[in-house]
Amino acid sequence: MILTYIETRDNKIKKASLEALSEAGRIAAELKTEAAAAIVGTGKEGLTAELAACGAAKVYLLENAAFDQYSTQDYAAALADLVKKTGPSAVFFSATSMGKDLSPRLAARLGVGVASECTQVAVKDGQIEFTRPVFAGKALLSFRLTSSPQIVSLRPNVFPLAQAAGAGELIKEAAEVPASPATGRVTEILQERGGEMDVTEADIIISGGRGMKGPENFGLLKEISELIPRSAVGASRSAVDSGWIGHQHQVGQTGKTVSPNLYMAFGISGAIQHLAGMSSSKVIVAVNKDPDAPIFKLADFGVVGDLFQVIPPLKEELKKLRS
Ligand code: FAD
Repeated sequence: MILTYIETRDNKIKKASLEALSEAGRIAAELKTEAAAAIVGTGKEGLTAELAACGAAKVYLLENAAFDQYSTQDYAAALADLVKKTGPSAVFFSATSMGKDLSPRLAARLGVGVASECTQVAVKDGQIEFTRPVFAGKALLSFRLTSSPQIVSLRPNVFPLAQAAGAGELIKEAAEVPASPATGRVTEILQERGGEMDVTEADIIISGGRGMKGPENFGLLKEISELIPRSAVGASRSAVDSGWIGHQHQVGQTGKTVSPNLYMAFGISGAIQHLAGMSSSKVIVAVNKDPDAPIFKLADFGVVGDLFQVIPPLKEELKKLRS
């Protein structure tokens, strides 16, 4: 069996978790086994159908009211217990902030290896082979894990959602709180101002760099984003370090890794550390006044010109499309 950890927020399943489950289902089918999902917390019974629709034959609900707030240690302990009970050959996570926090912790508890931020998973000679970008996205590494279960995190927005027909069996497990108290616990979740979408979850990212010239001009990118459903505003580290926009918007090696359907880079030169966070975007559009800017080497479409001349007509066209 291949188990997938399912992340929820406000009792809604994160799309990235459904992607990981879908991929687990595809790999499980190739290995002639089944895919299962694990959710931690209470009151999640209603989510079974959605998980079954992405290929979960079984849904394990690890219940304990103490787990309604995330804690790395408690969740890792609950998942380790489930792994010991059910014996999956692999446990899939999405490489969200929580997935990147929890998957190595689970691997350490079980004394096994972890394949993090994979962008491809395949079955070769009956074994799972993983591929992930290395050296800030300069090269791709394909490898296998020899320990079992194999702990894997998958980059969000890379793997397609599955459409399965099964009903999904719900199995409730009373999760134990570990005897030693957790040393870290989430105490509060602050909503992004104005309910903005996180860049890691957006289908389209409108990103700005030092070429935006100042914080007030990020408002232009926000106006464009407001016209596009499921979009978010991203930024280079230069813009973030200048205090023009919050760090949660930063894309790159020391920011977030994103793989949207469309990444629009305004006034971003394309330094290797920025590319490390967005090079797996499906379509990249760059607007830069320097024709030699490195971003153009990666871009699918480019505009050599002043972004302040490009943004207003773009906004008008988007408005027309929306009306
Ligand atoms: P610049 O490189 O200054 O580029 C600005 C661009 O805007 C230029 O290409 C210019 O031609 C263009 N421009 C200016 N005016 C206009 C205009 N009117 N119209 C159109 N184009 C215009 N960077 C990240 O982004 N993310 C990271 O996570 C990250 N992590 C790092 C980690 C380390 C350890 C280090 C050393 C660096 C990291 N960096 C990161 C920084 C990175 O090296 C670059 O300095 C940074 O990405 C540059 O940001 P920028 O492209 O906005 O600015």
